[in-house]
Amino acid sequence: MHEMGIALRIVEIARSAIPKEAADRAVEAVNLKVGKLTAIVPESMRFCFSVVSRDTPLEGAKLNIEEIPVTAVCGDCLAEFTIESADFSCPKCKSPDIRILSGRELTVASIELAE
Ligand SMILES: [Zn+2]
Repeated sequence: MHEMGIALRIVEIARSAIPKEAADRAVEAVNLKVGKLTAIVPESMRFCFSVVSRDTPLEGAKLNIEEIPVTAVCGDCLAEFTIESADFSCPKCKSPDIRILSGRELTVASIELAE
């Protein structure tokens, strides 16, 4: 379950994003952008997050996960397309020479602090 290591990183990133003057405020939500190529399962991500955020300002925070689709550009005809299946070739010219544009990201987009 690689979600555990990722959850630890998210807690680290989110904690460093809390402004000093808000250090005593609870974090209500953490908004994540997760590319589909990361193969993260949202349910296990939430579970791991709830475990590793214990005894931190992030305890009890809601984890909002926005999934980013996998998009690519063809190296031959320069078409841009979204990859929905395991077919990693250009839908226009069938070239296998494609470059992934998005789908690998794993970022903390923002955090929401309690009032
Ligand atoms: Zn093509």
